[in-house]
Amino acid sequence: MRVAWMYHDVMDLYGDTGNMMVLKKRCEDRGIRFELETVGIGEKADLAAFDLIFLGGGADKEQMSIIPDLLSRKENIQEAMDSRTFVLLICGGYQLFGKYYEAADHSQIPGLGFYDYHTDTGKEGSRCIGNVVIEADLDGLKTKIVGFENHGGQTVHVEHPLGKVLKGYGNSFDAGYEGFYDGRILGTYLHGPLLPKNPEVADFVITKALQKNDPDFKQSDLKKLEDVWETRAREAILSKLEQ
Ligand code: GLN
Repeated sequence: MRVAWMYHDVMDLYGDTGNMMVLKKRCEDRGIRFELETVGIGEKADLAAFDLIFLGGGADKEQMSIIPDLLSRKENIQEAMDSRTFVLLICGGYQLFGKYYEAADHSQIPGLGFYDYHTDTGKEGSRCIGNVVIEADLDGLKTKIVGFENHGGQTVHVEHPLGKVLKGYGNSFDAGYEGFYDGRILGTYLHGPLLPKNPEVADFVITKALQKNDPDFKQSDLKKLEDVWETRAREAILSKLEQ
């Protein structure tokens, strides 16, 4: 499995790096070869050659700094998605695949515009912060996803939300829904980091990535892992949040 980790040195908030560590470990535990390449500003890369593209979250200033480079790769990212490279996006990265992002100072950062959703700034100084639980349906796999959000941006016009919010805010203060998933990209506000606390989602991402070269590959084809600590961590969070 080949992964392109975009702007690893700029877009990495609240443990987003942990997502890459988890994918590596879960692949290695199963004898799946895992190659992780970082793609920084100005670095040459053919993103369509990868099975997975990952982009983490970032503060407004960081989002602003990657925009010229990100937009220059628009055609290549489109080509990647069209050839079934799966895309995992966290928070600031998720926002930039939509039409635009309005920063806290009201300046507008253009997005890649692949989707109609866009992100406006909330009321002065207000942010969606806290633990989150959502209920998601990942190609028929029904699962609760736990994580942590911290964003000022309010994302609206989300056609295919990732899940229904059980605790926390989600795409905006009163959205009731969180993230975006349409089979090609999975965007979410959940840092936390996302994959260590949600092993089923980690395996789902691995499955989607492996489907680039083997469209018939199924999540149930992956060797079962024990997930003792992961399950314990999830249960601790869920029981606390559901009280
Ligand atoms: N700067 C964006 C916002 O505040 C994204 C923050 C993040 O990635 N956590 O909405």
